[in-house]
Amino acid sequence: MLVGLVFVTSYFIGFMFTDVCPIGVLTGTMPIIILEPYKFVPSSFFWPAIGIFILFIVLIFIVERGWCRYFCPIGAFLAPFNKISMLHVDVDEEKCVHCNLCAIECPMGIDVANMYRDPECILCGKCVNVCPRDAITYGRF
Ligand code: SF4
Ligand code: SF4
Repeated sequence: MLVGLVFVTSYFIGFMFTDVCPIGVLTGTMPIIILEPYKFVPSSFFWPAIGIFILFIVLIFIVERGWCRYFCPIGAFLAPFNKISMLHVDVDEEKCVHCNLCAIECPMGIDVANMYRDPECILCGKCVNVCPRDAITYGRF
């Protein structure tokens, strides 16, 4: 998504990701259409944007954080920085009893007990809260 939507399309047809971003449709296009429809001038990406917005809504109902996990290029751009982020999630292997509760709770589908600064981690803290052994903590640096 990062390579395709941001770099390849930028090279061939311009930086159009912002024109089809579902958050832009939700917070910009929709309010204008509803509140001030006479001011709305659709861009050439209007219908692709509506299609992607519908996909975004459908994913909300069928896959937890489906858009973030599979389609958002911003998430793909930020993910590698988890490896060097000052704030991260640590697992104490000596306390862990491999009950798998953390992996079940994780909205990003991460095998938490066996991860090390997973790029997909969004630092939501759900695994920290659910661990019965207090084996997971927020680490700094
Ligand atoms: S919830 Fe805690 S004890 Fe269970 S697998 Fe995860 S880290 Fe280990
Ligand atoms: S902090 Fe959230 S996203 Fe990261 S491993 Fe724990 S449950 Fe998963």
